[in-house]
Amino acid sequence: MQTAVKKIQMVDLVGQYEKIQQEIDKAIIDVVRSAAFINGPEVKAFQADLEKYLGVKHVIPCANGTDALQIAMMALDLKPGDEVITADFTYVATAEVIALLGLKPVLVDVYPGTFTLNIEEVKKAITPKTKAIVPVHLFGQCAEMDALMKLSAEHKLFVIEDTAQAIGADYTYPDGKKVKAGTIGQIGCTSFFPSKNLGCYGDGGAMFTNDDELAKKMRMIANHGQSVQYYHDVVGVNSRLDSIQAAILRIKLRHLDEYAAARQKAAAFYDKAFANHPKIQIPARDKSSTHVFHQYTLVLKGADRNKLKEHLATKEIPAMVYYPVPLHLQKAYRDPRYKEGAFPITEHLCASVISLPIHTELTEEVQSHIVASVLEFLK
Ligand SMILES: *Cc1c(COP(=O)(O)O)cnc(C)c1O
Repeated sequence: MQTAVKKIQMVDLVGQYEKIQQEIDKAIIDVVRSAAFINGPEVKAFQADLEKYLGVKHVIPCANGTDALQIAMMALDLKPGDEVITADFTYVATAEVIALLGLKPVLVDVYPGTFTLNIEEVKKAITPKTKAIVPVHLFGQCAEMDALMKLSAEHKLFVIEDTAQAIGADYTYPDGKKVKAGTIGQIGCTSFFPSKNLGCYGDGGAMFTNDDELAKKMRMIANHGQSVQYYHDVVGVNSRLDSIQAAILRIKLRHLDEYAAARQKAAAFYDKAFANHPKIQIPARDKSSTHVFHQYTLVLKGADRNKLKEHLATKEIPAMVYYPVPLHLQKAYRDPRYKEGAFPITEHLCASVISLPIHTELTEEVQSHIVASVLEFLK
């Protein structure tokens, strides 16, 4: 019977919910019955749980991942015209807040295998006006943080990690010390958008830091620039994680490692199927970082990824292109400094990447169907 076949999705949030439904439903109703919708006890409890999980001194919840990046940059007292280096191959939010605050986004190319910031390119982009670097832990694994932290110390730059796609990933320093993604730079920023690895049922985000002063400042900025009610010391914003979302996130945080393991298992299945195919480049792994596979992204060689996407659609298999246009070629971010060809790796990736369904509820049966359909097209 056709209706018994579950539609394949990029992310199966309903399937994930059904496994923890009783707990989630109760948590939501408890918040409703308490009527503590804003800054209720669940927000503080989630904050404490996440601090413990990440091994970081301060978690400051806020309304979404874009706000987290903005508040982080506001707290660092960057001035209009200051340069902030980030990746050309990323979601727009990273560069958007830089531009919004009147700072100058300085884009650099990424590595062709891991898709993270190319350290040599970062070095070349540093000028006397550079104030911060924003590495993006794209698709679920960390940028080369050891090299970046050394470089930033040398040039006295701030590092703000955009870990919206990599919460829960482990980074290992050359000396063997292991830390969580987002706790390495002065500030880490994440998003709890529903489809992210730790997603709520609406919008949410957070900043992480081990610095007491920065924590205080970010908390104040997120709350209209006040630390005492109705006394506003700095210009702030209104950016809150609401109590219902915090209650949901507390429950889902307990499953985060198991969710990462499910994504890794699905990635390993794809890897095995595609590893030696002449037209497929599978996602490269950085030796210093675990990969929590927010996305499983292939680079096609000598085949049209748009046609593959269309072919998969005829088999009711969704696929996505993250991201089709490099930042430097987006209308809003055009800059005479960056012409077509300025960032060849990113331009190549934007023309040839395709992301396959990956989530916590994927079965081998569904994956076999996806693999067979991809291979059939590339025959
Ligand atoms: C999702 C995402 C953001 C923004 O998070 P929102 O909660 O949607 O504002 C920022 N950076 C990256 C890399 C993201 O994937």
